[in-house]
Amino acid sequence: MISPIIDENTIERLRALVNGVSRIVITCHKSPDGDALGSSLALCHVLRRLGKSAVVVTPDMAPKSLEFVPGVRELVVYTKNELRARNVLNDAQLIFCLDYNSFKRIDRLAELIEPLKVKRVLIDHHLDPDDVFDVKISFPEASSTCELVFRVLMQMGLLRFMDRHAASCLYVGLLTDTGGFAYSCDNPEFYEILASVMRRRFDRIGLYNKAMNTFSADSLRLQGYAINEKMQLFPEYGAALIVLDKEELERYHYNRGDTETLVNKPLAIPEVYWSVFMREDADRIKISCRSQGDFSVSDICARYFGGGGHLNAAGGDFTGTLEEAIAVFHQVLADLKAANTAEES
Ligand code: 5GP
Ligand code: MN
Repeated sequence: MISPIIDENTIERLRALVNGVSRIVITCHKSPDGDALGSSLALCHVLRRLGKSAVVVTPDMAPKSLEFVPGVRELVVYTKNELRARNVLNDAQLIFCLDYNSFKRIDRLAELIEPLKVKRVLIDHHLDPDDVFDVKISFPEASSTCELVFRVLMQMGLLRFMDRHAASCLYVGLLTDTGGFAYSCDNPEFYEILASVMRRRFDRIGLYNKAMNTFSADSLRLQGYAINEKMQLFPEYGAALIVLDKEELERYHYNRGDTETLVNKPLAIPEVYWSVFMREDADRIKISCRSQGDFSVSDICARYFGGGGHLNAAGGDFTGTLEEAIAVFHQVLADLKAANTAEES
């Protein structure tokens, strides 16, 4: 049995809101991943089948590696078409906010949404959502926002509108946000949801391969180089660090998404329980962290890198040079050592 974990009053409010409008905009976080796109597009497909005019607006482009997700071509991308994004948002009667907990995660899209008078519905699994949403469906213990969209549809009695396309989108988020059903999926209900999604009979193996095991030659070579020549291990701290600078990224013709799963790789080493990846982008240093067990990389990212996320998967945007970001990493190690010494004495 899949339990109705969302409060009935919340579902009732949401039903009234959806029934009362025809133009709905769905938004997700910048640098959208499989869960952000999967959940937004799944909801969009269902709302359209319900007869609504629904559009997904993203702060920036989806990576090439996710072009296969059904509906990606119809996204309204703020950085590509600001005017269109502005128009559909100004026209919206209801806004869904999926897979993010704060307007900081949607970049300049926030400036368009904040002044609007329409209701905002949050569906998300990140810790501590900001107080800017009218309806809050926030479950940090959920595997993914796709799981939550499924639960919302189930409790609203809308699962019959989940077609093959919507199911494919949900599958992508359930798959990618759990690292291929590896973590954040200990709840048996996760597999009941997966089973229900699977009944829509899409090309599961094709989607699995595209989402989990498709890389360009350049991307594979870049990952090989990063592991072979750039991975630093800090055994005393159970830590690994990989740093890629602009020149290295250019050398391998870096495209967005090319280093998506790189940060996980050092966790294959039994002695490593947390891993940090730093990438020098045009205007910032992108930080990605992963961990195993109860070591919280979300705390590390929030405290040191102005970011956040989940216990075992977090990230941040660091404004400063690569050298400064690396110095912060060494500060983290020093602070961990000091905290350990204090605990022992
Ligand atoms: P990734 O390392 O895949 O970019 O991100 C992993 C997780 O960390 C995301 O699901 C998101 O929860 C969180 N995250 C990544 N970047 C940021 C950021 O800049 N700010 C915050 N608050 N969270 C982030
Ligand atoms: Mn997610």
